[in-house]
Amino acid sequence: MHAPHLQTLHTAARTLVGPQPLAERLRELLLVLQRSIPFIGARVIVLEQPAWSLSLPPHDLPLWPQVWTSELLRVCEPLIRTPSGGAQYLGWPICWDGQLLGALELLVPPAHRSRDDLPLLDALTPLLSSALVLPMVAAVPVTALAAPPPPPPALAELRTALEAPLLVEPLVQIVRAWTERHLPAERVVLHVGQDQDNLRVHFSSAPANALLPATPSLAAAQQAIAQAAPLLERTSAGLEYALPFAVVGAAAALVVAGPRLGPEHVALLAQTAAVITPALQRALVYQRLHDQSQQLQHIFADLPTGLALTDHDGYLLRANPAWARLWNVPSTAVQPAQLVPWDMYEALLNRLPDPLAFDQFFRQPATTLDEVTLTLQMPYQLLRLLRIPIADAGRPQPHVLLVLSDVTRESEAERAKSEFVSVVSHELRTPLTSILGYADLLKARDFPPAERWELMDIIWKQASHLSNLVEDLLNVSRLDAGRITLNRWVLSLRQLITELITQMNKQLDQERHHLLLDIPATLPPVYADRDRLRQVLGNLLSNAIKYSPGGGEIVLRAQILHTPPIEAPSLPAEPALLITVRDEGMGMEAGELHRIFERFYRIDNGNTRKIGGSGLGLSITKALVELHGGRIWATSQPGIGSTFAFTIPIATDVVRTKN
Ligand code: ADP
Repeated sequence: MHAPHLQTLHTAARTLVGPQPLAERLRELLLVLQRSIPFIGARVIVLEQPAWSLSLPPHDLPLWPQVWTSELLRVCEPLIRTPSGGAQYLGWPICWDGQLLGALELLVPPAHRSRDDLPLLDALTPLLSSALVLPMVAAVPVTALAAPPPPPPALAELRTALEAPLLVEPLVQIVRAWTERHLPAERVVLHVGQDQDNLRVHFSSAPANALLPATPSLAAAQQAIAQAAPLLERTSAGLEYALPFAVVGAAAALVVAGPRLGPEHVALLAQTAAVITPALQRALVYQRLHDQSQQLQHIFADLPTGLALTDHDGYLLRANPAWARLWNVPSTAVQPAQLVPWDMYEALLNRLPDPLAFDQFFRQPATTLDEVTLTLQMPYQLLRLLRIPIADAGRPQPHVLLVLSDVTRESEAERAKSEFVSVVSHELRTPLTSILGYADLLKARDFPPAERWELMDIIWKQASHLSNLVEDLLNVSRLDAGRITLNRWVLSLRQLITELITQMNKQLDQERHHLLLDIPATLPPVYADRDRLRQVLGNLLSNAIKYSPGGGEIVLRAQILHTPPIEAPSLPAEPALLITVRDEGMGMEAGELHRIFERFYRIDNGNTRKIGGSGLGLSITKALVELHGGRIWATSQPGIGSTFAFTIPIATDVVRTKN
């Protein structure tokens, strides 16, 4: 429908529900209609007892073609006649509940494009029918007509109800309840969105009438918003009225439809725009603020970085859960109005190896961005703390934001990387220097055979050390790339150990080390990769030898795992053998035990420094044990010795069939 027609329809709807007598309202209507359709004459016939009519110009034109009027009243359907040369006739019946109440007739100039007027006339006649039906049923008490309550009280009720809600959803519910109470509509839909192309249905009353199309209201809402004017259309299922709300930063429209909807309802609805628009505008702004603050709240709560905001004197204003978690103090220990960090100081004191650095950091005035990395022990943690003054024009002293992050892993990765470079270059250089030195010596002079053999033996040992190191590095990179696949088989552990020991005995200084085996002959076979299992046992045994320079007993024991030892990590449920390698060597501090399986980690003290190594052996060993589905752990006492234990699955019938 054209925009001017829409405007006409809107004014016509208001005119028809006015307080004046019907004849006056009808005359007014024809005047309104004339603004849109340049008719020669217009007439409304009212089929009351007695029937009467009202025309514009006021007297009945002699040229009213009576034959077409009769036809119109007979067929009771819109009638259009365009006689050649004469005025065009447009006749519309006015019906209510299938009953003919009257007719609207227009005579328009021959050249006028009356096709454009049809939607307007289509939409106008239902309004006319509800205006005509009222006086005709005047005998019936007014209350029984199911007419809506007079607009002012209903509007006042809506206005009062809309003063309360601050968010969009409660507002929408109020509008919904109000429309259901005051309008005989079959469908009421509120569309709200960023713009007319992104409208979302906020509520939609269930369609009671199957004739109403499933999504009737979206197009009407979009069109009303685009035109910034209400849209009234007559559909096959009755009137459809779309009322746009002029809200800034959003688009919204209420669409009401139904066969019982009359002009008085449309007029009432038209007045609601002035009430709903400001309330909706306020709710949209408040909703946006509310959503933003909710989002920030969630980010604050879920951020893995610890955040604490204090006033200038250090009193806590708020902190997120990560703040307490990273300091490793219970969340109840962090309360608003506490003095940060001094109220947590006691809980932290025995974890701070350097309380002075902590003290100093917090005692200096917080005027610039400061940063400190704090070391905590038991458990070992590296925490980076940032202190950011937050200036605010409204406050003389800035607030202070403390940002806490756990950098233990990053710094470990960094440390491991630089240690790798220094360890690897050192480990490569030492054997290479002696290989080159002794090779030079051999080239320079002719040695007696015994001495020459000795020198060549040193070169051989250093070269094989180099080759082992390179082999370890290759293993690490293969494990990283997931390129180590196991070639598992049913194996006798006893046999594998016997073979290995024969080989190792060559390395063993029999004078100082005594290797004892405790492997029952009745042990069930294991399900493992022969070479990899040999590598695991070889690593553990050579460490036991290496880290007991003073000699002693080395006991290799294997048994069926019945009850897991207390110090073991959680173990898989499948049946397994428990294999332990115990030595009487230098041992380790308890605090080191969880780290020795890390890549490149070497305990650095006076004793270990003399013993070469890359820090890779145990990390490879652990990875290989875990590839088999086993677990490895260690217990140790400095100066007494260490025990390394691991599990390996027993070859049951089930796994055997897998092979
Ligand atoms: P590497 O022996 O090449 O240094 P490993 O990964 O095999 O590397 O061992 C890591 C660290 O664990 C060693 O540097 C050593 O300090 C410690 N360690 C391993 N086995 C023993 C043991 N049996 N007794 C004492 N310390 C050990």
